Amino acid sequence: MRLVLLGPPGAGKGTQAQRLVARHGIVQLSTGDMLRAAVAAGTPVGLKAKDLMARGELVPDEVVVAIIADRIDQPDAKKGFILDGFPRTVAQAQALEQLLARKKLKLDAVIELVVDDNILVSRIEKRVAEMRARGEPVRADDNPESLKKRLSAYHAQTAPLADHYRKKGLLKSIDGMAPIDACTAAIARHLTVPAARKAPVRKAPRGGTRGSVKARSGGRKTGAPKARTRKPVTRKTKRKAAAAKKRPAGRKLPRNTAQKRRSGRARRLTKRR
Ligand code: AMP
Repeated sequence: MRLVLLGPPGAGKGTQAQRLVARHGIVQLSTGDMLRAAVAAGTPVGLKAKDLMARGELVPDEVVVAIIADRIDQPDAKKGFILDGFPRTVAQAQALEQLLARKKLKLDAVIELVVDDNILVSRIEKRVAEMRARGEPVRADDNPESLKKRLSAYHAQTAPLADHYRKKGLLKSIDGMAPIDACTAAIARHLTVPAARKAPVRKAPRGGTRGSVKARSGGRKTGAPKARTRKPVTRKTKRKAAAAKKRPAGRKLPRNTAQKRRSGRARRLTKRR
């Protein structure tokens, strides 16, 4: 399963992604986490991203696209993945589509967590307070100034992605203000496609050719009954069927030339006798 999780900072993408990982056995690919790791390790990518991230601005598309291209090729992503924080712009979404097309892969769904801005601010304040209480280092961009920028970057560059994926029939918007478990349940409901929608069941032809030949012949592999074939529907058979429908009950079929000739001959023969 290959998913994208969309939502503003503080919408709960990380929490829902972890639950999807546990449920589906796929990996969570968070560009934010990867970039923070690059910053901590002081790699060239980290050096490029550090200041932009601290200010709450987006890292250039080509940097994140290259990170993702490399990451989805790793063996642990073969079974599937959840993209968290990527794509963030329509250009990134298009790059992702090309990337997946080259690998003959497709996205299964895009889940958007919808949350009001004022709720996001108080959620992030709570997250910072909890991290401080646990003695954990607080993210450089978890401050009111950067948060404002991250939110405006989301509305300007990431929100248009919802439309992009809606047009492709992939988007499912979830109320991210509902309790965490309710959000998880709503996502699960969306991802559990009813069996009937998964594979349209084709009607068996009349006369029944249901089941395997082996099953129909009571386990015999050879001498299985031949499947009944239907007469091809031609214009003539259609006309006949329509005429039979119109005809009042009890009225005979109009005789065709061959029938008329036959009965004429029979009459003549009886007369001669
Ligand atoms: P996040 O952890 O997803 O909130 O991301 C933290 C920061 O990393 C963002 O504010 C951006 O500066 C940067 N970032 C993460 N993902 C992307 C992305 N797909 N495109 C550009 N910048 C990103």
